[in-house]
Amino acid sequence: MSTFKHKKPTHGLSTEIVHSRPVSANGFSSQPVPVYRGSSTFFENTAAQRAPVNPIGLDYSYGLHGNPTQYTLAKKLAEIEGATHALVCPSGLTGIALVAQACLKTGDHWLIPENVYGPVQALARSLQADYGVEFSEYDPCDLASLTTVVQPNTKLVWTEAPGSLTFETPDLRAIVAFAKANGARTGIDNTWAAGIAYKPFEHGFDFSVQALTKYQCGHADVLMGAVLSNNTKAFADVERKNRILGLGVSPADCDLVLRGLLTLPLRYRQQAESGLLVAKALKQHPAIARVLHPEFPECPGHEFYKRDFTGFASIFSVVLKPEFTDAQACKIIDSLKLFKIAYSWGGPESLGLVVNIPDSRRRHLVDGHGRCGPILRLAVGLEDTADLIADLTQALQTNT
Ligand SMILES: *Cc1c(COP(=O)(O)O)cnc(C)c1O
Repeated sequence: MSTFKHKKPTHGLSTEIVHSRPVSANGFSSQPVPVYRGSSTFFENTAAQRAPVNPIGLDYSYGLHGNPTQYTLAKKLAEIEGATHALVCPSGLTGIALVAQACLKTGDHWLIPENVYGPVQALARSLQADYGVEFSEYDPCDLASLTTVVQPNTKLVWTEAPGSLTFETPDLRAIVAFAKANGARTGIDNTWAAGIAYKPFEHGFDFSVQALTKYQCGHADVLMGAVLSNNTKAFADVERKNRILGLGVSPADCDLVLRGLLTLPLRYRQQAESGLLVAKALKQHPAIARVLHPEFPECPGHEFYKRDFTGFASIFSVVLKPEFTDAQACKIIDSLKLFKIAYSWGGPESLGLVVNIPDSRRRHLVDGHGRCGPILRLAVGLEDTADLIADLTQALQTNT
């Protein structure tokens, strides 16, 4: 494979092994970024070690704070979404928690939409109970509700588009304008759009958070998140919090996400197309009252989706007719053979779940008699669409 000059050892064998340096990488170029590992990052000299670190620069000071594999992933994510700053963190939820904790201190207040990713409500309750950070929920379909809950101490307006489980698209432009007029920072959970179908920084957002766990990874084998920004001061606050909390991600996991990114646009487009075909097939089924997919005009906020988004994900929900019980909904999901029962989405397997939302959130979904059946969430994977439709058809046939 290669020839190496033999040098008479000048130390004991253990010292020789530890201090042997890697071969030069000069002349080697390839698509994959090497998986750089390393907790200790060597400095040239004491002056370099003592030099001030730029926490939001590409500084190499300690393994926890970034190495070329992690920075390369952050750079590619920033390029995809049009951000000037990005960091990767252990999960999508961590990314949201970092933004909240960077922007809010005791006595501050933030706004979250009532259809937010569920664990964010738990985060908000915990920050309130333990640190005195107040929060209010707003109805993302009714901007007047923002006016009633905003406070002089509101420092962050959080958004998610479309919302988790029920897929309403809010008027993001109006929310950003409202937040700015009230002196609050703005952030969006942009996981559904995967940074592709919606560009938050063209619309004035301070932060975007991605659950890389979903489409960017794409193979259901990594948990990771990212915080992106083009507001240097706001991003520096997040990075400071990231360092204080000592968060870091494995370079080997970054390597898997970097590999996923190569096919991200292809997978996103293909899965979206498959998902829409499945959604259209379900729309015809007599057991189904409505399909909550932003592509359909009956999905609340469709006009904002059409205005602001250039694509869509392969996850959506269906509302069964009101005569169906929760037990029947569970039987339908349990009868599926190809769809797995699992959280998350964006991976190769299609997934299905019966989801529960509070009655207060069903008001946008009720029929003319104020009734709303059970809700099933479906995430379409990489299988052949005809097989998925056949699977859903047999599950509905058996149980309705
Ligand atoms: C999955 C998900 C998250 C959380 O991501 P994790 O990496 O699982 O923590 C956040 N927001 C949305 C919309 C998600 O679907």
